[in-house]
Amino acid sequence: MYLYNSLTHKKELFQPIQPGQVKMYTCGPTVYHYAHIGNLRTYIMEDVLEKALNYLGYPVKRVMNITDVGHLSSDADTGEDKMLKGARREHKTVMEIAQFYTDAFFADCEKLNIKRPDIVQPATGCVNDYIKIISTLMDKGYAYFAGGNVYFDTSKLEKYYVFNDHDQEDLAVGVREGVEEDPNKRNKNDFVLWFTKSKFEDQALKWDSPWGVGYPGWHIECSGISMKYLGEDLDIHCGGIDNAFPHHTNEIAQSESYLGHKWCNYWFHVHHLNTDDGKMSKSKGEFLTVSLLEQKGYDPLAYRLFCLQSHYRRNLVFSWENLDNAAGAYEKLIAKIAALTSDGEPDQAALEKLKERFVSALNADLNTSLAVTAVYDALKAPVSDATKLAALADFDQVLSLDLLKKAEALRNNQTQEAVSADPEIDGLVAARTTAKKAKDFAEADRIRDQLKAMGVELTDTPQGTKWRRV
Ligand code: AMP
Ligand code: ZN
Repeated sequence: MYLYNSLTHKKELFQPIQPGQVKMYTCGPTVYHYAHIGNLRTYIMEDVLEKALNYLGYPVKRVMNITDVGHLSSDADTGEDKMLKGARREHKTVMEIAQFYTDAFFADCEKLNIKRPDIVQPATGCVNDYIKIISTLMDKGYAYFAGGNVYFDTSKLEKYYVFNDHDQEDLAVGVREGVEEDPNKRNKNDFVLWFTKSKFEDQALKWDSPWGVGYPGWHIECSGISMKYLGEDLDIHCGGIDNAFPHHTNEIAQSESYLGHKWCNYWFHVHHLNTDDGKMSKSKGEFLTVSLLEQKGYDPLAYRLFCLQSHYRRNLVFSWENLDNAAGAYEKLIAKIAALTSDGEPDQAALEKLKERFVSALNADLNTSLAVTAVYDALKAPVSDATKLAALADFDQVLSLDLLKKAEALRNNQTQEAVSADPEIDGLVAARTTAKKAKDFAEADRIRDQLKAMGVELTDTPQGTKWRRV
């Protein structure tokens, strides 16, 4: 498999350190709010990467942190802890909101068929691991104590800025909000490993340490958690492109200074989901969530398809129109699969041929849009339905679009609808649609109430109004 490596700035043949197991680390969410669908684009593409590696014969062990401490509202170590801000907003404790938004994150992941990593570790659970690394960095002269905090001294490195092919825009995003000068820093890029002094005295979570009672910086948690579960070297480290600097740059600086050797071979960065008016951001307050998509009648897997249709190294622009197109394509795809008959045995030779296209799409730097095209190619191929179904089941191990499951559900629904078709109800639903189109909302509401009284519930979807008896 060829993968683009942000560290070397080129596509490289992927070779794991140990052939039997790929060690993969993922920066997890900061759990002070719901994940937005931009965050989830990153997790969808990382999920596809993990599944593609497994599919191609490289079994993966994957670790993810949950950031529940130390991520300040500016990535340049200034501002308030995001978790504290979130707790105050909701009049809850930091641990309460951490639990709530961690659960919400995994509920969203489940709806999007994102597999839970093998190990999920909240940052607050590994403070002793960070203290051990920071102590060694102090002993080796890579860290210094100033103004109550411990800083990493970037001037001690031959090369600090390793991901130097990102454009100015990405760098600006990396630094994010409100950068303030910290007079304790010896060099502009130095970063905090351990805080005891913060402008915000009400920091709720604190631990004892050789440098006083305080809390870890954000970057050290990923180095500590990765090494705790995956050891001293790592095959792939993943994250959104905004994490490349300063977060991943700092992870490399402290990990390699601590270990005394190279730490991670491949860096996989997913580019951003943007809206027409810019980057989607949790801290802006208003953002799109999976629940919102559902409320508007979208199947979360239509969003997954939307993400798969574009390459992970391109920015993706979200608009309702674009999502409508993906939702329409998903519905048509499922309908096509539902029309296949499963009689007979698949033709193994033909199946292997169909798989070849799919495999070469994955091998080409995880080209998911070509992998989706391979699904359509299989449907069009001059092979038996059983062979088509076998190919789709095989591809769906990576794509996770529930292709066969949804097709089966559609077939069952169609049978049910055929039995329960009702011209009177269909007529009323059509009359309501006409009223809505004419902006006669009073009439539309009246018809909805009339149907409700008849025990019929309506759901408006981008593909039209659906009804069912309740
Ligand atoms: P956070 O919860 O802010 O720590 O971010 C979780 C993940 O989402 C990180 O890997 C980020 O790099 C990524 N991310 C943040 N914003 C976006 C976006 N607009 N599009 C794609 N990924 C994003
Ligand atoms: Zn991280």
